[in-house]
Amino acid sequence: MSTTTFSKKARGLDVIEPVVTPSAAANETSFLKKPKLGASKTRKKEIPEGLWTKCPKCSTMIYDKELADNQRVCPHCGHHFPISARERINALVETCSFEEMDAQMTSVDALKFTGVAPYTEKLDQYQRSTGLKDAVLTGVGRIDSHRLGLGVMDFSFLGGSMGSVVGEKLTRLIETTTDRGLPLVIISTSGGARMYEGMFSLMQMVKTCAALAYHARSKLPYLSVLTHPTTAGVMASFASVGDLIIAEPGAMVGFAGPRVIRDTTQADLPPGFQTAEFLQDHGLIDAIVPRKELRERLSGYLDFLGEGRRKQTAAA
Ligand SMILES: [Zn+2]
Repeated sequence: MSTTTFSKKARGLDVIEPVVTPSAAANETSFLKKPKLGASKTRKKEIPEGLWTKCPKCSTMIYDKELADNQRVCPHCGHHFPISARERINALVETCSFEEMDAQMTSVDALKFTGVAPYTEKLDQYQRSTGLKDAVLTGVGRIDSHRLGLGVMDFSFLGGSMGSVVGEKLTRLIETTTDRGLPLVIISTSGGARMYEGMFSLMQMVKTCAALAYHARSKLPYLSVLTHPTTAGVMASFASVGDLIIAEPGAMVGFAGPRVIRDTTQADLPPGFQTAEFLQDHGLIDAIVPRKELRERLSGYLDFLGEGRRKQTAAA
């Protein structure tokens, strides 16, 4: 700040830069040279925090409102930013058609777990910062003419980790859709099982899959949508057993991380390893659907699967 007396911030943004020779106190060469990008502290301060977001893929600065209006997809390069569960539900279902289930369910600290911080403290902290009770929202809603069960995970709550609440809420959702004869859509994003709940977290893998087996036995469609990142215990259970497995572009999908696999197998990993595109080429993922097309595509898939089910019932 010592080199300039014409700070926009100090004088107000409406002040036009004066075209005068800088005082002798100013660095003589500074106004002749093109300033280096990112070198000016003053410029950084002019951008109010929380208004603009830099795209990690194309480095464009995006106005936050523009990003929100675009379902948090970069309008320049199509990079998919993380999106909260509530924003996603708002974008997907018909207005006011979503009835949330088990909204108040919260975890108990059965193991009295204390790591860097006690589990109860962590829960409290994330509940306050996200406004969520846990890492998934579940309920029944409508996309076009399709009533369906919808579960949406939120990575901002403890990395979308699956503890007993995530497992129980999803299981109740799956059982409700089975009872009511509804199709099911689960949108996943998760770092895996929640270590704070130890074995209780791992038990959710089999519980959700068992409920899904009953759903499948009723010949009801289940569409699994994988978003960045979907890994570990979630990918190894309900996320990978959809009748159709859909992913968002560029999503990281896998079980163990690439470093662990490289160290274990001592092999070089192929380019694009664990991306949605790589897994589509290798047959795990059926379709890659950009976020803005998801609603229309889900509706189309449900039309198709519903039609198949009607024919099957008629033939039986
Ligand atoms: Zn971009």
